[in-house]
Amino acid sequence: MPNYYNKDLYKVLNLTCDASKEEIKSAYRKLVRIYHPDVSPESADVNKFKEIKEAYDVLTDDEARQKYDVLHGFFREKLEKEANKTAHKNKYDEFIKNAKEKAQQPQSFTKSFNDALDSLFKNSNVRSKKDVNKPASVNGSDISLELSVSCFEAVNGTNRKVNILHTEPCPNCGGRIFINGSKCSMCAGSGIVSLQKKINVKIPQGVKQGSKIRIRNEGNKGINGGKNGDLYLIINIEKNSYYEIEGTNVLCNLPVTPFEAVLGAEISIPAIDGNISVKIPPMTSSGQKLKLEGAGVYNKSKTKKGDMIITVYIKLPKNFSAKELELYNELKNLSADDIRKDLKNAKKSIN
Ligand SMILES: [Zn+2]
Repeated sequence: MPNYYNKDLYKVLNLTCDASKEEIKSAYRKLVRIYHPDVSPESADVNKFKEIKEAYDVLTDDEARQKYDVLHGFFREKLEKEANKTAHKNKYDEFIKNAKEKAQQPQSFTKSFNDALDSLFKNSNVRSKKDVNKPASVNGSDISLELSVSCFEAVNGTNRKVNILHTEPCPNCGGRIFINGSKCSMCAGSGIVSLQKKINVKIPQGVKQGSKIRIRNEGNKGINGGKNGDLYLIINIEKNSYYEIEGTNVLCNLPVTPFEAVLGAEISIPAIDGNISVKIPPMTSSGQKLKLEGAGVYNKSKTKKGDMIITVYIKLPKNFSAKELELYNELKNLSADDIRKDLKNAKKSIN
């Protein structure tokens, strides 16, 4: 590795790492006038001039500069500066910014961006001399995305469309950063762009809370022949106040009206295989349990199905008409049974 990799060549020319080629040339010309022995014998400094010439040679050679920037750590710094500079001018940056804001996945653009850069540094360090003129290949990083499903979808499996924000090589420069010696304007010299993509995914039967589904190749795209990352969907089974899966049993909290509780009813409710009809016997109270055999989930070997365990509770309708209230009033006056008799006796027996 040339020894100038340990030096700040920009500092040698009194510049910062975002300097343009014109700025580098102009800075070089100024310094030549001061330090070149043939130009200014009184202020000449041969060693200093050598250093300046070396910095100039490296920084005006696009490939050498890019390699130097990457290995020295200026690459990242430069991208950040560029991004800040062009944020308001560059339409494409605006698009990336919007895409970032829209992205809902926990994995952030900055992270994948940094991951891509990290692997770029890694690859650059291990590249052989033979590959020195080829741009570094960068593997795309994986993307993790949480996906919420209902408990029935978890049991039966489902198809979903998911929106992912991924990075891929810039379509303008193909990830090469430079086009004909000048920095690509579409990706601001990062070589990658961030895009929204919709993909269809198949959620298999029997996923559990926290199950990880791997979808190959749908992560961030590799650059310069690097491998594509994978997409991981982390299953979140939505909490639901009516249903819960417990082993092979489906637990159901079933609301019934006061008159259904008294008179009995036949109610159709969603179950694992379509809808199922539940017979509520007359005079059913809140908390009473009903068991529907075989209406649960298959066991692992698919030889036996669990049950649906229904817990009935009485729920009042939200709106009552005047007529209904009148009838309830009538019922109240008609009712002779004291349902709190045991409650009163409970106190007696404690004493
Ligand atoms: Zn580009």
